[in-house]
Amino acid sequence: MTALSLLRRGCSVTLIDRWEPGHPRASSSDYNRIFRSIHGKDEMYTQWVRESRLRWIELQAELGCELYVECGALVLAAEGHSAWEDATIGTFEKLGIPHFIFGPDELPARFPQFDFNHIAYGLYEPEAGMVMAQRAVVETAKLFQREGGKLKRGRVVTDEHEALFLDGKPLDADVIVVCTGPWLGEMYRRTVRPISNIVRQNIIYTSTPEGSTAYDYTDMPCWIDHGLGAYGIPSIQGTGVKAAIAWTAAIIDLDNDERVVDDATFTRTRSYIQKRLPGLVGQRAVDQKACQIAMTPDTHFILDFHPVHENVLLSGGCSGHLFKHGPVYGDFSAGVALKEYGTADRFKINARGKLSAGESPSGR
Ligand SMILES: Cc1cc2nc3c(=O)[nH]c(=O)nc-3n(C[C@H](O)[C@H](O)[C@H](O)COP(=O)(O)OP(=O)(O)OC[C@H]3O[C@@H](n4cnc5c(N)ncnc54)[C@H](O)[C@@H]3O)c2cc1C
Repeated sequence: MTALSLLRRGCSVTLIDRWEPGHPRASSSDYNRIFRSIHGKDEMYTQWVRESRLRWIELQAELGCELYVECGALVLAAEGHSAWEDATIGTFEKLGIPHFIFGPDELPARFPQFDFNHIAYGLYEPEAGMVMAQRAVVETAKLFQREGGKLKRGRVVTDEHEALFLDGKPLDADVIVVCTGPWLGEMYRRTVRPISNIVRQNIIYTSTPEGSTAYDYTDMPCWIDHGLGAYGIPSIQGTGVKAAIAWTAAIIDLDNDERVVDDATFTRTRSYIQKRLPGLVGQRAVDQKACQIAMTPDTHFILDFHPVHENVLLSGGCSGHLFKHGPVYGDFSAGVALKEYGTADRFKINARGKLSAGESPSGR
């Protein structure tokens, strides 16, 4: 998205990647990502998502393929653990964002797929849903090439001074945006690593019951269940129901680990399904994904020029919520890269601390 935005500002752009667009090691892999404005009390991300929604709709019209699916998003506010959800309601009311609050009596009638045990209320955002992630990457890369952008396969490396090299030669350009996702910390051990921790995420897709549409995106929203450390996406185009459980700090070797999930993931997913999605008990796993997230302590992204290499803009620190912002983030990054304006304070490469659930944009 940044490359496309730079191109559309009149720059000559070469996009260099180690692998093919849409490859499964990238954090942007997998069929889909949740799209929701729900960001606690954080107004900036909330407004970025509202703007992104329009831009995804525009992009899918331009590309002629489905990228944004508005099936809604439901946040389950756990009893005694709802500071983030409470803060989100305040933000939605202030900014006029469509939402519904359902109490425990109403929830089962509205969303019969779930067992709402220990849930104080549900916050439902109708103008939310999912973005078809891998398709968006592949199709946007093609669009970038059609508009004159160059796509090059290669591995950019840094030396001990964090200078960039490609094929043994210094990498040179008026401006270089390094957006290597989870690999950014490895490349910038001094500058980025202290504020970026890589977390492995294993995901199982569970079959919908034969003959039933109840777990399809037409009948079920995406959901976030902080109380049980889980989130999920309904079935779309036969994927099965996606459920990611537990925000574990499991280590991942980005280049060498096999991208397959372990037995513990199956056990955790089945136990979650038993608690929250009883209608899926006994259904079989039909797909799986192993991926990773670059977490910053405050879950704000990183977008700042390197302290020494003045033409190098570092971009990343996705913290598990960057995909949906793609069109707006890419546009904003392009403007920062070209010095049309400075980056936001929150994105600067400074020491960062963990925020409380009420303050955090991600609730983590
Ligand atoms: C399991 C999971 C669930 C998520 N859920 C959501 C969600 O529901 N909603 C949401 O909005 N976001 C979500 N996210 C976050 C979102 O997917 C990421 O924020 C986003 O995909 C990050 O994109 P990126 O371009 O920064 O990184 P990546 O997609 O990882 O891209 C980095 C690219 O850089 C390339 N590269 C790396 N090193 C080099 C090098 N040295 N030289 C050349 N190329 C290199 C890689 O090959 C890769 O293609 C989730 C992430 C994960 C992993």
